[in-house]
Amino acid sequence: MINVTKSYLPDLEEYTNYLKGIWERVHLTNDGPLLRELEGKMKEFLGVKHLKFCTNGTVVLQMALKALDITKEVITTPFSYVATTNALLWEGCTPVFADIRPDDFCIDPGKIESLITENTQAIMATHVYGNACRIEQIQAIAEKHNLKVIYDAAHTFGSSYNGRSILSYGDVSTCSFHATKVFHTVEGGCIVTDDDALAEKLHFYRSFGHRNDDYYSIGINAKNSEFHAAMGLCVLPKVPHLIAARKQVFSWYDDRLNFERITRPTLTSGVDYNYAYYPVVFDSEATLLRVSDALKAQEIVPRRYFYPSLNTLPFSIGHEPCPVSEDVSLRVLCLPLYPDLPEEDVDRIAAIVNEAVAVITEPV
Ligand SMILES: *Cc1c(COP(=O)(O)O)cnc(C)c1O
Repeated sequence: MINVTKSYLPDLEEYTNYLKGIWERVHLTNDGPLLRELEGKMKEFLGVKHLKFCTNGTVVLQMALKALDITKEVITTPFSYVATTNALLWEGCTPVFADIRPDDFCIDPGKIESLITENTQAIMATHVYGNACRIEQIQAIAEKHNLKVIYDAAHTFGSSYNGRSILSYGDVSTCSFHATKVFHTVEGGCIVTDDDALAEKLHFYRSFGHRNDDYYSIGINAKNSEFHAAMGLCVLPKVPHLIAARKQVFSWYDDRLNFERITRPTLTSGVDYNYAYYPVVFDSEATLLRVSDALKAQEIVPRRYFYPSLNTLPFSIGHEPCPVSEDVSLRVLCLPLYPDLPEEDVDRIAAIVNEAVAVITEPV
Protein backbone atom coordinates (compact mmCIF):
# COMPACT_ATOMS: atom_id res chain seq x y z
CA MET A 1 0.00 0.00 0.00
CA ILE A 2 1.13 3.55 -0.78
CA ASN A 3 -0.17 6.10 1.67
CA VAL A 4 -0.40 9.86 1.12
CA THR A 5 2.54 10.20 3.49
CA LYS A 6 5.07 8.03 5.27
CA SER A 7 6.92 9.15 8.38
CA TYR A 8 10.69 9.34 8.20
CA LEU A 9 12.32 7.16 10.86
CA PRO A 10 16.01 7.58 11.75
CA ASP A 11 18.36 4.65 12.28
CA LEU A 12 17.13 2.79 15.32
CA GLU A 13 20.62 2.84 16.78
CA GLU A 14 20.76 6.61 16.63
CA TYR A 15 17.50 6.84 18.58
CA THR A 16 18.51 4.20 21.12
CA ASN A 17 21.72 6.14 21.83
CA TYR A 18 19.52 8.98 23.07
CA LEU A 19 17.45 6.48 25.06
CA LYS A 20 20.57 5.34 26.89
CA GLY A 21 21.08 8.90 28.11
CA ILE A 22 17.46 9.10 29.25
CA TRP A 23 17.91 5.83 31.16
CA GLU A 24 21.05 7.16 32.83
CA ARG A 25 19.52 10.49 33.86
CA VAL A 26 16.01 9.21 34.62
CA HIS A 27 14.74 12.62 33.53
CA LEU A 28 11.78 11.77 31.29
CA THR A 29 9.94 15.07 30.87
CA ASN A 30 9.56 18.58 32.40
CA ASP A 31 12.04 20.80 30.55
CA GLY A 32 14.65 18.07 30.21
CA PRO A 33 18.12 18.35 28.66
CA LEU A 34 17.14 16.81 25.30
CA LEU A 35 14.18 19.19 25.02
CA ARG A 36 16.47 22.13 25.70
CA GLU A 37 19.01 20.87 23.21
CA LEU A 38 16.30 20.45 20.57
CA GLU A 39 14.87 23.92 21.22
CA GLY A 40 18.33 25.43 20.82
CA LYS A 41 18.98 23.55 17.59
CA MET A 42 15.56 24.41 16.15
CA LYS A 43 16.04 28.10 16.94
CA GLU A 44 19.35 27.99 15.15
CA PHE A 45 17.95 26.03 12.19
CA LEU A 46 15.01 28.43 11.80
CA GLY A 47 16.78 31.62 12.84
CA VAL A 48 14.03 32.60 15.30
CA LYS A 49 14.28 34.33 18.66
CA HIS A 50 11.96 32.39 20.98
CA LEU A 51 10.66 28.89 20.38
CA LYS A 52 8.79 26.66 22.83
CA PHE A 53 8.61 22.95 22.02
CA CYS A 54 5.15 21.68 23.01
CA THR A 55 3.00 18.57 22.77
CA ASN A 56 1.29 19.26 19.45
CA GLY A 57 0.37 21.83 16.84
CA THR A 58 -3.14 22.38 18.19
CA VAL A 59 -2.52 23.31 21.81
CA VAL A 60 0.00 25.94 20.65
CA LEU A 61 -2.76 27.69 18.68
CA GLN A 62 -4.85 27.75 21.85
CA MET A 63 -1.90 29.06 23.88
CA ALA A 64 -1.32 31.81 21.30
CA LEU A 65 -4.92 33.00 21.58
CA LYS A 66 -4.79 32.89 25.37
CA ALA A 67 -1.44 34.66 25.62
CA LEU A 68 -2.61 37.48 23.34
CA ASP A 69 -5.90 37.83 25.25
CA ILE A 70 -8.00 37.06 22.20
CA THR A 71 -11.58 36.24 23.21
CA LYS A 72 -13.80 37.83 20.58
CA GLU A 73 -13.84 37.83 16.78
CA VAL A 74 -10.93 36.46 14.79
CA ILE A 75 -10.75 36.70 11.03
CA THR A 76 -9.55 33.36 9.80
CA THR A 77 -9.25 31.11 6.79
CA PRO A 78 -11.84 28.52 5.76
CA PHE A 79 -9.09 26.54 3.98
CA SER A 80 -7.02 24.81 6.66
CA TYR A 81 -7.00 21.74 8.80
CA VAL A 82 -9.89 21.66 11.25
CA ALA A 83 -7.50 22.32 14.17
CA THR A 84 -7.28 26.00 13.18
CA THR A 85 -11.02 26.56 13.61
CA ASN A 86 -11.25 24.19 16.56
CA ALA A 87 -8.62 26.19 18.47
CA LEU A 88 -10.71 29.33 18.03
CA LEU A 89 -13.95 27.65 19.06
CA TRP A 90 -12.30 25.86 21.99
CA GLU A 91 -11.00 29.18 23.31
CA GLY A 92 -14.48 30.70 23.00
CA CYS A 93 -13.51 33.01 20.13
CA THR A 94 -15.78 33.67 17.15
CA PRO A 95 -14.26 32.64 13.82
CA VAL A 96 -15.11 35.01 10.97
CA PHE A 97 -14.13 33.43 7.67
CA ALA A 98 -12.48 35.45 4.92
CA ASP A 99 -12.36 33.61 1.60
CA ILE A 100 -9.11 32.44 0.02
CA ARG A 101 -7.20 33.45 -3.08
CA PRO A 102 -8.03 31.27 -6.09
CA ASP A 103 -4.35 30.87 -7.04
CA ASP A 104 -2.56 29.81 -3.83
CA PHE A 105 -5.53 29.02 -1.52
CA CYS A 106 -4.18 31.21 1.31
CA ILE A 107 -6.44 33.81 2.94
CA ASP A 108 -7.27 36.68 0.55
CA PRO A 109 -6.14 39.95 2.15
CA GLY A 110 -8.63 41.77 -0.07
CA LYS A 111 -11.47 39.99 1.75
CA ILE A 112 -10.34 40.82 5.28
CA GLU A 113 -11.05 44.52 5.84
CA SER A 114 -14.77 44.44 5.10
CA LEU A 115 -15.16 41.81 7.85
CA ILE A 116 -13.51 43.88 10.59
CA THR A 117 -15.88 45.07 13.33
CA GLU A 118 -15.29 46.70 16.71
CA ASN A 119 -15.03 43.18 18.13
CA THR A 120 -12.26 41.98 15.81
CA GLN A 121 -9.04 41.30 17.71
CA ALA A 122 -6.87 39.16 15.46
CA ILE A 123 -6.21 37.51 12.14
CA MET A 124 -5.44 33.80 12.24
CA ALA A 125 -4.22 32.57 8.86
CA THR A 126 -2.69 29.34 7.61
CA HIS A 127 0.34 29.17 5.34
CA VAL A 128 -1.27 26.56 3.11
CA TYR A 129 0.82 23.52 2.06
CA GLY A 130 4.02 25.22 3.30
CA ASN A 131 3.61 28.21 0.97
CA ALA A 132 3.47 31.74 2.45
CA CYS A 133 0.37 33.89 2.84
CA ARG A 134 0.49 37.50 1.56
CA ILE A 135 2.44 38.46 4.66
CA GLU A 136 3.01 42.18 3.96
CA GLN A 137 -0.62 42.85 3.07
CA ILE A 138 -1.88 41.02 6.15
CA GLN A 139 0.61 42.90 8.33
CA ALA A 140 -0.48 46.25 6.89
CA ILE A 141 -4.15 45.51 7.62
CA ALA A 142 -3.29 44.36 11.13
CA GLU A 143 -1.31 47.51 11.87
CA LYS A 144 -4.00 49.78 10.46
CA HIS A 145 -6.71 48.19 12.63
CA ASN A 146 -4.59 47.28 15.62
CA LEU A 147 -5.06 43.52 15.25
CA LYS A 148 -2.76 40.67 16.28
CA VAL A 149 -1.53 38.23 13.64
CA ILE A 150 -1.30 34.54 14.46
CA TYR A 151 -0.04 32.19 11.77
CA ASP A 152 -0.87 28.53 11.76
CA ALA A 153 2.44 27.61 10.17
CA ALA A 154 2.00 23.86 10.75
CA HIS A 155 3.12 23.08 7.19
CA THR A 156 6.06 25.43 6.91
CA PHE A 157 9.03 23.84 8.67
CA GLY A 158 11.93 24.32 6.25
CA SER A 159 10.11 26.89 4.07
CA SER A 160 11.40 30.44 4.00
CA TYR A 161 10.09 33.73 2.67
CA ASN A 162 12.46 36.51 1.62
CA GLY A 163 15.32 34.60 3.20
CA ARG A 164 13.72 34.12 6.64
CA SER A 165 11.87 31.10 7.99
CA ILE A 166 8.13 31.55 7.43
CA LEU A 167 7.79 30.79 11.14
CA SER A 168 9.46 34.11 11.96
CA TYR A 169 6.51 36.21 10.72
CA GLY A 170 3.43 37.44 12.62
CA ASP A 171 3.05 38.21 16.33
CA VAL A 172 3.05 34.47 16.91
CA SER A 173 3.55 31.50 14.60
CA THR A 174 2.87 27.90 15.45
CA CYS A 175 4.09 24.67 13.90
CA SER A 176 3.15 21.01 14.12
CA PHE A 177 5.69 18.22 14.40
CA HIS A 178 3.13 15.46 13.98
CA ALA A 179 4.44 12.24 12.40
CA THR A 180 2.95 13.24 9.02
CA LYS A 181 4.78 16.56 8.73
CA VAL A 182 8.05 17.40 6.93
CA PHE A 183 9.88 17.54 10.27
CA HIS A 184 8.40 15.45 13.07
CA THR A 185 8.86 14.42 16.68
CA VAL A 186 6.11 11.71 16.55
CA GLU A 187 3.73 14.15 18.24
CA GLY A 188 4.81 17.70 18.88
CA GLY A 189 4.63 21.31 17.91
CA CYS A 190 6.10 24.67 18.72
CA ILE A 191 5.21 28.27 19.22
CA VAL A 192 7.47 31.03 17.95
CA THR A 193 7.60 34.72 18.78
CA ASP A 194 10.04 37.65 18.88
CA ASP A 195 8.36 39.16 21.92
CA ASP A 196 10.30 38.52 25.15
CA ALA A 197 7.35 39.07 27.49
CA LEU A 198 5.08 36.86 25.42
CA ALA A 199 7.71 34.11 25.33
CA GLU A 200 7.95 34.23 29.12
CA LYS A 201 4.17 33.99 29.41
CA LEU A 202 4.10 31.00 27.02
CA HIS A 203 6.87 29.32 28.97
CA PHE A 204 4.66 29.29 32.06
CA TYR A 205 1.49 28.44 30.16
CA ARG A 206 3.23 25.31 28.91
CA SER A 207 3.65 23.91 32.41
CA PHE A 208 0.56 24.79 34.46
CA GLY A 209 1.59 28.41 35.04
CA HIS A 210 4.03 27.67 37.82
CA ARG A 211 7.65 26.93 38.60
CA ASN A 212 8.18 24.88 41.74
CA ASP A 213 6.18 26.64 44.47
CA ASP A 214 5.76 29.92 42.61
CA TYR A 215 2.41 30.28 40.82
CA TYR A 216 2.37 32.95 38.12
CA SER A 217 -0.61 32.49 35.79
CA ILE A 218 -3.16 30.08 34.48
CA GLY A 219 -1.57 27.35 32.46
CA ILE A 220 -2.09 24.08 30.70
CA ASN A 221 0.00 20.97 30.27
CA ALA A 222 1.71 21.35 26.89
CA LYS A 223 5.11 20.00 27.96
CA ASN A 224 6.74 17.52 25.65
CA SER A 225 8.90 14.59 26.72
CA GLU A 226 12.54 13.61 26.34
CA PHE A 227 11.46 10.72 24.09
CA HIS A 228 9.84 13.12 21.65
CA ALA A 229 12.78 15.50 21.85
CA ALA A 230 15.12 12.58 21.08
CA MET A 231 13.19 11.85 17.89
CA GLY A 232 13.45 15.52 16.97
CA LEU A 233 17.21 15.50 17.54
CA CYS A 234 17.52 12.51 15.19
CA VAL A 235 15.29 13.95 12.45
CA LEU A 236 16.33 17.63 12.50
CA PRO A 237 19.79 17.20 10.91
CA LYS A 238 18.16 15.19 8.09
CA VAL A 239 15.65 17.93 7.18
CA PRO A 240 17.66 19.46 4.28
CA HIS A 241 18.15 15.98 2.81
CA LEU A 242 14.46 15.09 3.33
CA ILE A 243 13.36 18.29 1.59
CA ALA A 244 15.72 17.61 -1.34
CA ALA A 245 14.26 14.11 -1.69
CA ARG A 246 10.71 15.53 -1.65
CA LYS A 247 11.72 18.00 -4.33
CA GLN A 248 12.82 15.11 -6.53
CA VAL A 249 9.45 13.36 -6.12
CA PHE A 250 7.77 16.67 -6.92
CA SER A 251 9.60 17.00 -10.20
CA TRP A 252 8.67 13.44 -11.20
CA TYR A 253 5.00 14.30 -10.71
CA ASP A 254 5.48 17.59 -12.56
CA ASP A 255 6.95 15.71 -15.52
CA ARG A 256 4.33 12.98 -15.68
CA LEU A 257 0.94 14.49 -14.88
CA ASN A 258 -1.23 15.78 -17.69
CA PHE A 259 -1.76 19.45 -16.86
CA GLU A 260 -4.30 19.95 -19.61
CA ARG A 261 -6.87 18.68 -17.14
CA ILE A 262 -5.25 19.24 -13.77
CA THR A 263 -4.16 22.46 -12.12
CA ARG A 264 -1.87 23.18 -9.19
CA PRO A 265 -1.78 26.01 -6.67
CA THR A 266 0.88 28.65 -7.31
CA LEU A 267 3.85 29.42 -5.10
CA THR A 268 4.18 32.92 -3.66
CA SER A 269 7.22 34.68 -5.09
CA GLY A 270 10.02 34.95 -2.54
CA VAL A 271 9.26 31.51 -1.08
CA ASP A 272 11.96 28.87 -0.82
CA TYR A 273 9.68 25.85 -0.58
CA ASN A 274 9.77 22.74 1.64
CA TYR A 275 7.74 20.56 -0.76
CA ALA A 276 5.36 19.57 2.01
CA TYR A 277 2.40 18.42 -0.12
CA TYR A 278 1.52 17.66 -3.73
CA PRO A 279 -2.04 18.94 -4.19
CA VAL A 280 -3.77 18.62 -7.56
CA VAL A 281 -7.04 20.30 -8.51
CA PHE A 282 -9.56 18.69 -10.86
CA ASP A 283 -12.38 20.21 -12.89
CA SER A 284 -15.07 18.80 -10.58
CA GLU A 285 -15.66 16.76 -7.45
CA ALA A 286 -16.90 13.94 -9.70
CA THR A 287 -13.47 13.76 -11.34
CA LEU A 288 -11.78 13.87 -7.94
CA LEU A 289 -13.87 10.95 -6.73
CA ARG A 290 -13.15 9.00 -9.91
CA VAL A 291 -9.41 9.56 -9.50
CA SER A 292 -9.54 8.74 -5.82
CA ASP A 293 -11.43 5.48 -6.45
CA ALA A 294 -9.04 4.48 -9.22
CA LEU A 295 -6.05 5.03 -6.91
CA LYS A 296 -7.63 3.21 -3.98
CA ALA A 297 -8.39 0.24 -6.24
CA GLN A 298 -4.59 -0.05 -6.62
CA GLU A 299 -3.99 0.35 -2.87
CA ILE A 300 -2.84 3.95 -3.28
CA VAL A 301 -4.34 6.32 -0.74
CA PRO A 302 -4.54 10.03 -1.56
CA ARG A 303 -6.09 12.49 0.87
CA ARG A 304 -8.78 15.14 0.53
CA TYR A 305 -6.86 17.95 2.16
CA PHE A 306 -8.31 20.40 2.97
CA TYR A 307 -11.91 19.25 2.99
CA PRO A 308 -14.49 20.41 3.94
CA SER A 309 -14.30 24.18 3.76
CA LEU A 310 -14.25 25.15 7.44
CA ASN A 311 -17.05 27.73 7.14
CA THR A 312 -19.37 24.75 6.48
CA LEU A 313 -18.46 22.62 9.53
CA PRO A 314 -21.68 21.20 11.00
CA PHE A 315 -20.78 22.27 14.57
CA SER A 316 -19.93 25.87 13.69
CA ILE A 317 -22.86 27.30 11.82
CA GLY A 318 -24.04 30.70 10.67
CA HIS A 319 -21.03 31.72 8.61
CA GLU A 320 -21.03 33.70 5.40
CA PRO A 321 -20.34 31.71 2.23
CA CYS A 322 -16.74 31.44 1.02
CA PRO A 323 -17.29 30.46 -2.61
CA VAL A 324 -13.64 30.02 -3.57
CA SER A 325 -12.78 27.83 -0.58
CA GLU A 326 -15.99 25.81 -0.88
CA ASP A 327 -15.26 25.17 -4.55
CA VAL A 328 -11.55 24.35 -4.17
CA SER A 329 -12.07 22.05 -1.19
CA LEU A 330 -14.37 19.86 -3.30
CA ARG A 331 -11.82 19.52 -6.09
CA VAL A 332 -8.41 19.28 -4.44
CA LEU A 333 -6.60 16.05 -3.65
CA CYS A 334 -3.13 15.54 -2.18
CA LEU A 335 -1.15 12.79 -3.90
CA PRO A 336 1.30 10.55 -2.03
CA LEU A 337 4.52 12.37 -1.28
CA TYR A 338 7.37 11.31 0.96
CA PRO A 339 11.14 11.29 0.64
CA ASP A 340 11.68 7.68 -0.40
CA LEU A 341 8.68 7.29 -2.71
CA PRO A 342 10.20 5.39 -5.66
CA GLU A 343 10.10 6.83 -9.17
CA GLU A 344 8.23 3.74 -10.46
CA ASP A 345 5.46 4.41 -7.97
CA VAL A 346 5.17 8.02 -9.12
CA ASP A 347 4.98 6.67 -12.69
CA ARG A 348 2.16 4.38 -11.73
CA ILE A 349 0.27 7.01 -9.69
CA ALA A 350 0.55 9.61 -12.45
CA ALA A 351 -0.64 7.10 -15.07
CA ILE A 352 -3.69 6.18 -12.99
CA VAL A 353 -4.51 9.85 -12.38
CA ASN A 354 -4.09 10.81 -16.04
CA GLU A 355 -6.27 7.94 -17.18
CA ALA A 356 -9.03 8.58 -14.65
CA VAL A 357 -9.05 12.29 -15.45
CA ALA A 358 -9.34 11.64 -19.17
CA VAL A 359 -12.55 9.61 -18.90
CA ILE A 360 -15.26 11.61 -20.59
CA THR A 361 -18.49 11.44 -18.66
CA GLU A 362 -21.81 11.84 -20.42
CA PRO A 363 -23.70 14.94 -19.38
CA VAL A 364 -26.80 13.94 -17.44
C1 LIG B 1 -1.24 19.22 11.36
C2 LIG B 1 -1.92 20.54 11.45
C3 LIG B 1 -2.37 21.04 12.68
C4 LIG B 1 -2.42 20.23 13.93
O1 LIG B 1 -1.23 19.81 14.39
P1 LIG B 1 -1.17 18.62 15.48
O2 LIG B 1 0.26 18.57 15.83
O3 LIG B 1 -1.64 17.38 14.78
O4 LIG B 1 -2.06 19.01 16.61
C5 LIG B 1 -2.88 22.33 12.72
N1 LIG B 1 -2.99 23.07 11.60
C6 LIG B 1 -2.60 22.60 10.39
C7 LIG B 1 -2.73 23.49 9.19
C8 LIG B 1 -2.07 21.31 10.28
O5 LIG B 1 -1.74 20.83 9.09
